[in-house]
Amino acid sequence: MATHRVGGEVDAACTRCKMELAHTILAMVGPKIVRVRCNTCGSDHVYRGTQSRSRTAAARPRTAPAERTVVGWDAQLAARDVSSAQDYRPEEHYAVDQVVRHPTFGLGIVRAVRQDKMDVAFKTAERTLVQGRGPGTARPSFAPPLRPVEAPDAGEEG
Ligand SMILES: [Zn+2]
Repeated sequence: MATHRVGGEVDAACTRCKMELAHTILAMVGPKIVRVRCNTCGSDHVYRGTQSRSRTAAARPRTAPAERTVVGWDAQLAARDVSSAQDYRPEEHYAVDQVVRHPTFGLGIVRAVRQDKMDVAFKTAERTLVQGRGPGTARPSFAPPLRPVEAPDAGEEG
């Protein structure tokens, strides 16, 4: 096994050429090559070794996004009167601790209310929903744009 040194050559996967090519070693840390220059395209890049035997490709421990549930949610819901759960509607006003029924997320417990938003703890996650958007509160109007009236046709025949 040849010992590498700065200025020497090494085969490496070039990120630019997308090939294994001869590279000139630019920098080393101890016995490890850290930076190389591709002899073909002349670009400097981090030494990744040859792709065929890269030891860095070890599979990352996968933290599976398991179905998480809000801690103690079931118990909290059980402590409340589910039968009085209100269907969620953005124009309604809700209060903290109230149980709401969302068409998509199911039952949820209102955690916090602030102006026109509220945080609701559903079984799987806490979500921010719109509330109190009833008539009277400021809401964007969707009036159709006024059509520019063109020269009115005077003579109307009947
Ligand atoms: Zn290259």
